[in-house]
Amino acid sequence: DDESIDLREHIRGIPDFPKPGILFYDISTLLRHGPAWSAAMARLGRAIRPHRPDLLAGIESRGFLIAAPLALELGLGFIMLRKRGKLPGETVGLDYALEYGTDRIEMQADAVEPGQRVVLLDDLLATGGTMAAGVRLLRQAGAVVPAVAALIELTFLEGRARLDVPCETLLRYD
Ligand code: IMP
Repeated sequence: DDESIDLREHIRGIPDFPKPGILFYDISTLLRHGPAWSAAMARLGRAIRPHRPDLLAGIESRGFLIAAPLALELGLGFIMLRKRGKLPGETVGLDYALEYGTDRIEMQADAVEPGQRVVLLDDLLATGGTMAAGVRLLRQAGAVVPAVAALIELTFLEGRARLDVPCETLLRYD
């Protein structure tokens, strides 16, 4: 990890996306910069390792971009939490509330052995609704979730208050 890299310089805020009034934090600029992406994965890896995961899980779709390289970095397997209808075979799913309406995430029913420790990753923690749903789904499938993690946390939305596990984040915006 190149300690001199300031990850903040590689994230941009895009106003009025996807709706007027929303400032969207875009990780595309981080992903397209090799040393910054690599430093971010190394730092998240160090934050996650003490939670002793057996597997990492990512939430579709930007969570995959964090969880899969991190799983390789830590020598672990990787599980996909996907939107409805995308996964083959027997699945378990969970409906969760959005600002307007509901959404559903699913995972393969046999993805974890009972009691396996799974750390869940996403690119960004906002209200925490997505992450909280992911934790519940993983538990429904038999996993123990010792922690969750994200690159970015929007602290003013107090997402971590909706979580009953530690949340590791690298960059906080308020
Ligand atoms: P939450 O459920 O409100 O915590 O929203 C988090 C989910 O929405 C994550 O899956 C993020 O990918 C996505 N999200 C919300 N705001 C942003 C943003 O500013 N940049 C990137 N993704 C975001």
